[in-house]
Amino acid sequence: MKFCQYCNQQVQPRKHINWFILVLMCLITGGGWLFVYVPYYFLFKSESCPICGGKF
Ligand SMILES: [Zn+2]
Repeated sequence: MKFCQYCNQQVQPRKHINWFILVLMCLITGGGWLFVYVPYYFLFKSESCPICGGKF
């Protein structure tokens, strides 16, 4: 749990996945894109508030 400064409450952070881009790039690269996206997702993608979408 993290404290959201916009909602003034404790929230469970969530990472948003852009499914459209994910599926599109998988079709274009034949799945090779996943080897780039998965590490990127876990290492660099920032978590955000599920209520207001604010970044932590
Ligand atoms: Zn919030």
